[in-house]
Amino acid sequence: MTKKVLSFDIDQTLNIAKTPITDDIAELLIRCSDYYEICPISGQKFDQFLIQIVNPMLDNGVKPAQLTHLHLFVAQGTQYYIYENKSDKYDEKNWKQVYNYPLTDEQVKKISETIEKSARELGYWEEDKLQPGDEIIENRLSQVTFSALGQKAGTEEKYAWDPDCKKREKIVARCKELAPEFDYEIGGTTSINAITPGMNKEFGMTHLLEELKVTKDEILYFGDMTQPGGNDYPVVQMGIDTITVRNHEDTGYALRGILGVSE
Ligand SMILES: [Mg+2]
Repeated sequence: MTKKVLSFDIDQTLNIAKTPITDDIAELLIRCSDYYEICPISGQKFDQFLIQIVNPMLDNGVKPAQLTHLHLFVAQGTQYYIYENKSDKYDEKNWKQVYNYPLTDEQVKKISETIEKSARELGYWEEDKLQPGDEIIENRLSQVTFSALGQKAGTEEKYAWDPDCKKREKIVARCKELAPEFDYEIGGTTSINAITPGMNKEFGMTHLLEELKVTKDEILYFGDMTQPGGNDYPVVQMGIDTITVRNHEDTGYALRGILGVSE
């Protein structure tokens, strides 16, 4: 089956967690946008999609017309943004939110309290390591995200915190006891995303199918956390063709291969 959509997890798939994509990946995505719809989907906020993906593509010469083939599935696809090409000049205001499914205030409160309690009990509440103004628990509207060392911590420090996911697995296990009505997924290097059941990448991909009017067979997905319990696993479970990568370099190799047969 010919693929029409290339869909990507972001952290550790398109970039080094929390940093902008490299010029190499930006250039590959631009070239791919001439042949495919490009759909990044991740737990990040909209602003981070601009910083990590859109701005580096602009730096590498993406044209507004090409951006109409970039579809941003924000907060695991519970929010969807498209670029409306109104002139030859890029304008950040032309990003339009197509839909949004936020959590309620009570849900946000319950999840935040549950994660904090679990992390404190286990000795993984690292408040003293936070940089000024940073926070461990962040309300991302459609999900609540725990970042053990905050958003501003250095990459190396983050890698070293929980390389085998064991700390986060323990936090998740305790959260499930305290508030089983939510789902908890491990992602990035220090993160846990809490969502209402079904508001995971399956939700996002289901909406992607609907919005882009494509079938599962027409999508190729790239992710680094495709193992059971990982935040890319719901996509695998849906039966969508998936390429598991270790990092953005693996993704780069795969995209070169795809372009080699597309151009
Ligand atoms: Mg990832």
